Amino acid sequence: MIDGWAAGIDGRWLFTAVVWGLHEVAFFATWGAFSLLFRLGVAKRFQVAEGKAPAPDLSRRAVLDVLGGHVLLLVVTAFVLYPAWVAMGGRADPPLPSAFEIAWQLVACILLQDTMFYWSHRLLHLPRLFRAIHVKHHTFRHVRGHSSEYAHPVESVANLVSFMVPAILLHAHLLTFGIWVFVRVVETVEAHSGYAFTRLASRHAFHHLYAAKGCLGSFFGIWDRIMGTDRQWREWRRDQTHR
Ligand SMILES: [Zn+2]
Ligand SMILES: [Zn+2]
Repeated sequence: MIDGWAAGIDGRWLFTAVVWGLHEVAFFATWGAFSLLFRLGVAKRFQVAEGKAPAPDLSRRAVLDVLGGHVLLLVVTAFVLYPAWVAMGGRADPPLPSAFEIAWQLVACILLQDTMFYWSHRLLHLPRLFRAIHVKHHTFRHVRGHSSEYAHPVESVANLVSFMVPAILLHAHLLTFGIWVFVRVVETVEAHSGYAFTRLASRHAFHHLYAAKGCLGSFFGIWDRIMGTDRQWREWRRDQTHR
């Protein structure tokens, strides 16, 4: 149990509800916004691969799969990881964290997640693991928001754990944890939006178009730069802008 404003609500349920709730708000708001842009046909020069869409039956299948994952995998993962967050000193009661604490912890979460995502994603591109697990996520050559979480359950759980672990290690307050969930989900849906407003989205759209040609990171592509796995994306991007 936790004290303060959340007194009376079991901490595990509160934690799970905040993680799940903010995940849903971020997912549907970002997915909805980009779907609207496609429907209105605006900002076409930012659409990847001239706005080519995935096959409708694949999208239907993916939406059902992803919504099932939100209920089963996300809720269960948050519920199971709660004791780890508490053991590391995570709390939901006052005083609330300062703006400075929220800011530095978000930056640290991004850097840690970027590192874990790059190397686990690189592992998933080893031929055996790709065929057994990661191929499902790559069924989408042309991406849309709902493809962001369309993955083998092993990959989905690994992604959920690896984005919660940084906030757990930093014993982030529940407020910071919630903001981090929001930021991470907006980032991944935007990366799969089918629009390349940001370098992040351009890199990940390229990764889905040409799976073997690199761009394995998430937020900043720091590891792609260090390891040289974004070279072909740079050439592709130069090509795109010259057209
Ligand atoms: Zn992807
Ligand atoms: Zn991949």
